[in-house]
Amino acid sequence: MSERRSAADSVRWQGFSTRAIHAGYDPDPQTGAVNVPIYASSTFAQDGVGGLRDGFEYARTGNPTRRALEANLAALEHGTYGRAFASGMAATDCLLRSTLRPGDHLVIPNDAYGGTFRLIDKVFTQWGITYSVAPVSDVAAVRDAIRPETKLVWTETPTNPLLNVGDIETIASIAHEAGAKLVVDNTFASPYLQQPLTLGADVVLHSTTKYLGGHSDVVGGALVTDSEELDEAFAFLQNGAGAVPGPFDGYLTMRGTKTLAVRMDRHCDNAEKVVEFLNSHDKIEAVLYPGLENHPGHEVAAKQMKRFGGMVSVLVKGGIEEAKAFCARTEVFTLAESLGGIESLIEHPGAMTHASTAGSLLEVPANLVRLSVGIEDIDDILGDLENALR
Ligand SMILES: *Cc1c(COP(=O)(O)O)cnc(C)c1O
Repeated sequence: MSERRSAADSVRWQGFSTRAIHAGYDPDPQTGAVNVPIYASSTFAQDGVGGLRDGFEYARTGNPTRRALEANLAALEHGTYGRAFASGMAATDCLLRSTLRPGDHLVIPNDAYGGTFRLIDKVFTQWGITYSVAPVSDVAAVRDAIRPETKLVWTETPTNPLLNVGDIETIASIAHEAGAKLVVDNTFASPYLQQPLTLGADVVLHSTTKYLGGHSDVVGGALVTDSEELDEAFAFLQNGAGAVPGPFDGYLTMRGTKTLAVRMDRHCDNAEKVVEFLNSHDKIEAVLYPGLENHPGHEVAAKQMKRFGGMVSVLVKGGIEEAKAFCARTEVFTLAESLGGIESLIEHPGAMTHASTAGSLLEVPANLVRLSVGIEDIDDILGDLENALR
């Protein structure tokens, strides 16, 4: 079986950046290497049958690079157990299969990540799972969507791509009253801005591909929890189904987490300026950003987030053609899916990341454009948007 571990011993440090830089790995006692080595080994020598040296036997079950990353991620989320996966979707799949059985029901946001919705709607429903859709920003609607057979309440906050905000603490108590678990997809906020386990969530899910990795060079996912029982179920499937990240992926992701705080602060600084610029632009119908005082989730976001993040969505005046033209004309912003990297990205969710939601309850507005504001110089970012909207 997989080795057990707790990040508790790495949470010696209060400061977020100190944990980001040190949790999960101490300099190698033999060589002094300050960074975790890329342990490119699929198997580990045993001292006599079953005599494992550091808990490792086979790299699908556990690998030292991955173990360092898992402890690091757990520490960042103030959680006890971390599990790393080959992608955010692999983490999602593991979570759904660990918590749901045929006949069970889950509640999902009306603007969940498109891939999450697709996996639930196209695959899990075939295995006897049912779901209801409720806006994460509407606590009463979430409560109404819960049924006796509800085992999981899924939240994303802020949501992708509409940046709606859910009150984690309140939704956690609603879910728990009903005997359901709460998972928060914390990809958009990152643990620097929001730590859902401290607000009552049972599991935090990440696409580490985004802010945690932070450099658009690696795909990965993670689950963090305080529940030993849940972690055991995750570990069983992580090993049993095998959707694990390789050691090089683990190394890259951990290299990313070390600078999360400084990157996030710059993402937020730049996003705030972008919001200010677009909010008064006559080609923009509306700016969706939880940092805006008129955003319906502003108060909740201010309560549970440190800052409001680097993601900004806008509704472009006109319609789909104007929205697509805006996306096609930027130069600093690269037209591409994904988010959370150091470089600015722009995309049209209706035709790209969220195309799979067309015709469903989760369909996104045709004139919606999503910006992942990078950490380039703000004058270049604003100049680029100004040109593209001209
Ligand atoms: C990208 C993303 C995912 C899926 O993660 P992958 O690493 O692409 O598999 C899940 N949730 C959110 C909010 C995302 O942005």
